[in-house]
Amino acid sequence: MANPKPQIKYTKLFINNEFVDAVSGKKFHTINPANEAVIAEVSEGDKADVDLAVAAAKKAFSRNSEWRKMDPSVRGKLMNKLADLIERDATYLGNIETLDCGKTFTSSLGDIAGSVSTIRYYAGWCDKIHGSTIPVDGNNFAMTKKEPVGVVGQIIPWNYPLAMAAWKLGPALATGCTIILKPAEQTPLSALYLASLVKEAGFPPGVLNVITGYGPTAGAAIAEHPDVNKVAFTGSTVVGHIIMAASANSNLKRVSLELGGKSPLVILDDADVDEAARIAYNAIFDNHGQSCCAGSRTFVQSKIYDRFVDRAKQLAEQRKVGDPFENGVDQGPQIDQDMFEKVMEMIKSGKEAKATVETGGNRLGNMGFFIEPTVFSNVTDDMRIAKEEIFGPVQSILKFDTLEEVIERANNTKYGLAAGIITKNIDKALLFAQAVEAGSVWVNSYDLITAQTPFGGYKLSGIGRELGEEGLHEYLEIKTINIKLP
Ligand code: ADP
Repeated sequence: MANPKPQIKYTKLFINNEFVDAVSGKKFHTINPANEAVIAEVSEGDKADVDLAVAAAKKAFSRNSEWRKMDPSVRGKLMNKLADLIERDATYLGNIETLDCGKTFTSSLGDIAGSVSTIRYYAGWCDKIHGSTIPVDGNNFAMTKKEPVGVVGQIIPWNYPLAMAAWKLGPALATGCTIILKPAEQTPLSALYLASLVKEAGFPPGVLNVITGYGPTAGAAIAEHPDVNKVAFTGSTVVGHIIMAASANSNLKRVSLELGGKSPLVILDDADVDEAARIAYNAIFDNHGQSCCAGSRTFVQSKIYDRFVDRAKQLAEQRKVGDPFENGVDQGPQIDQDMFEKVMEMIKSGKEAKATVETGGNRLGNMGFFIEPTVFSNVTDDMRIAKEEIFGPVQSILKFDTLEEVIERANNTKYGLAAGIITKNIDKALLFAQAVEAGSVWVNSYDLITAQTPFGGYKLSGIGRELGEEGLHEYLEIKTINIKLP
């Protein structure tokens, strides 16, 4: 049951299967975005703590360690045990997620179910990761072997705290890596609780370490660390550049990045307007617009444009914003003051550019970071609300005439994370799916993300893929063994 006052059990760093204070003794506040009250004081990790965590992860990865010698099927069992424990404590985890992050309780439970699927999916891979034998020239026998990349740093954002942790832990554990996970400073609580479940499941000390703290200190220490072999990052494109530079300037650690987006959702005039408006509404307003793959450019063909805008406006006006623990609430607060101000500034820019505010456009209440679901029509490609990531509950509706035109406009962005099209015409859907520059394309739906299918971006939306078999490759080295035959 939803409980807005869950007891907070873990607030310290997790190193070597123990909860410990930061070396500096420093702490920071984690805030409830619905009322701006302090939820808990959490240990503020820094370079010294990252050094300790990396040393623990390195030891756990050493050649004769329990983890390295563990049968892959046993690794799979531990992962399934972890998934069982997350399921057991789903309600508690849902409560701390909603408290810390502001997403609705129902949505937190959805994230937890997705996290469980991801960990179970990767549990199944543990004993199925293999190389190949290769017919080579000469009297040699050649084979490849896939090996874990080693100590990995994982830096995750605040919008899907637990789900992003699961996306990263799944392939790292399945391949046998050891981990330093840094949750976002806004949402440290669910990752710390998850760490306690990792210990309870029976993973050896040092396999998972969690360092809570800020990006430019704790995050940077991970990205720059000479003994971290790979860093996986999800967050802003700006920080993605910093992570990549840190790798270049240190040990050329492998880097995978899942960054921002400005994803187009195209609605052709053969679509059912009600259904299309509903899909487009979910595509942008889910998680309060705080989603990297949000369908944040709604392109609607001219013949149905006015009807679509009316329906989009109605849906946004029906959206219930309020206490995320309350039944029936669709939207809670934005994550923090900073993001709230950024979204409000983008709304202001839309108004100044003379896009039409169909509904919303204002702050809601005067406590917590609530924003009215906002719909702009008559948006043109040159406006900031059509070009920049807003990361808030703001729909920008653009008009187009032909499919060729909209393909070009959809691709006219520095991002390439996702795209969608709604049409009854399969040829047009296929043409769009082929032509659009995006890592995921959804037809007659949006946000169809599954543990089994790869997810990631073209262009400035990132490097590498998460989920699916491709997600494993990011955590593997390939060794070629070539044997001279007699
Ligand atoms: P947002 O702008 O959405 O908050 P960020 O990209 O700033 O996203 O943050 C995503 C994650 O990256 C968080 O865990 C944050 O602490 C971390 N981070 C921020 N700045 C840096 C940095 N300079 N180096 C490493 N990690 C960072």
